[in-house]
Amino acid sequence: MTRILWRNWARNQQSAPISVERPATEEELVAIVKKAAASRERVKAAGSGHSFTGVALTDGHLIALDRYSRIVNSDLSEGTVTVQAGMSLHRLNVELQVRGLALENLGDIAYQTIAGAISTGTHGTGRSLGGLATQVTGLRLIASDGSLVDCSAEMEPEVFHAARVGLGALGIISTVTLRCLPAFNLHAFETPMPVDTVLGSLDELVGGNDHFEFFWFPHTGWALTKRNNRTDRPLSPRSRWSEFRDDILVNNVAFGALCRLGRWRPSLIPPLLGRLPPPGAAEYVDKSYEVFVSPRLVRFYEMEYAIPREAAVEAFNEVRRYIERSGLVITFPVEMRFAAGDDIPLSMAYGRDTCYIAVHVYQGTHYQQYFEAVEQIMIGYGGRPHWGKLHFQTAETLALRYPEWDRFQAVRARLDPTGRFSNPYLNRVLGPVVGG
Ligand SMILES: Cc1cc2nc3c(=O)[nH]c(=O)nc-3n(C[C@H](O)[C@H](O)[C@H](O)COP(=O)(O)OP(=O)(O)OC[C@H]3O[C@@H](n4cnc5c(N)ncnc54)[C@H](O)[C@@H]3O)c2cc1C
Repeated sequence: MTRILWRNWARNQQSAPISVERPATEEELVAIVKKAAASRERVKAAGSGHSFTGVALTDGHLIALDRYSRIVNSDLSEGTVTVQAGMSLHRLNVELQVRGLALENLGDIAYQTIAGAISTGTHGTGRSLGGLATQVTGLRLIASDGSLVDCSAEMEPEVFHAARVGLGALGIISTVTLRCLPAFNLHAFETPMPVDTVLGSLDELVGGNDHFEFFWFPHTGWALTKRNNRTDRPLSPRSRWSEFRDDILVNNVAFGALCRLGRWRPSLIPPLLGRLPPPGAAEYVDKSYEVFVSPRLVRFYEMEYAIPREAAVEAFNEVRRYIERSGLVITFPVEMRFAAGDDIPLSMAYGRDTCYIAVHVYQGTHYQQYFEAVEQIMIGYGGRPHWGKLHFQTAETLALRYPEWDRFQAVRARLDPTGRFSNPYLNRVLGPVVGG
């Protein structure tokens, strides 16, 4: 039997599942899980493969949900929508806009599926906002025996509490219900600043904007800051040409060329970056989701750590000093974002206001030395790695950083007592199922 090879977006993870299933209805989805249970084989749903870790891999039956990706229900008076798990964020944004709704916050891209995004704790930036999973008000899961479990704050609250960031370990998500806001516009203001000025006024920048983030360019003193604020002002989007120039030509085509040059001749990068002008400024008003997300055509590997908000400047400076003294040549910016603490057991922002620091390298570049060194710095601040991004931690070290670890594991043991949804990554970061 020839097996189909499944690969993630970054092409650093692959598996050869027994079969790739493409259900179009919940009945078909349940039947796949029941069949796997009957034959004692593993089964796993993959989203759009945008995790850098092996979290979505399986040697069993892989469920692709591209045919199971519709809006099931929308309640405009409550501002909620229920969607099938395979809906992409991109399509969800458009469907919500048509209904006069929007998600309150988003990450950098919208290629992910809704189930895949919440399962790893995907987040954007915003001083008082949580990740996507905090916008979930209900889930319908398929447990490892094929039974359906509806959960919300009122119904099966223990399952709901854990399953919003479930790493695909608790069940196959069939539908997700989300709390939305009335559609809104964002005023975007992007400008380069000396990175020391950014760090010196970080509290004001984070506190004074609905969504603040910055990208520091290693080997330079520059950071590109992004301030996005809700506004009643009418749309004044970038012209098509400015959008194409900034998002495609500069951020993807020219940046991709720089990355290829860096991979071929790393020593050319620091002097080149030192001579380039800082990135250009931009100001516009657009629909929220058009501002939040951008196209990402240059493939890369990423690690991202969540640390307490108050450690942001100190931790960042340690990373900066490490890059300077290591002699490494880094073409990708270091990104800093912010989120409010939440109560989801395996959310990286559990129980504390959070700063996210992300490091990246161009696809095909060695990342081990850089990421391991940055990880050590982050661990010094009680850092928790993003579940969908590269890191080197194990269940033993991670359990200590999540106060409700055992509560999560109890739900896992109940819904998947035999580890049918497990894989080597989950065995590494969650350990084997216990007490099932
Ligand atoms: C270019 C790029 C930009 C990114 N930007 C951000 C960002 O701004 N913020 C951020 O936090 N992260 C970001 N990420 C990481 C990304 O959001 C996460 O890794 C996310 O999980 C990917 O979603 P996916 O649909 O591709 O899911 P996959 O990576 O395919 O799967 C992720 C997990 O979800 C599980 N899963 C998927 N569907 C189901 C289902 N129906 N039931 C149960 N489990 C399911 C899978 O089994 C797996 O465990 C980025 C990644 C890339 C490549």
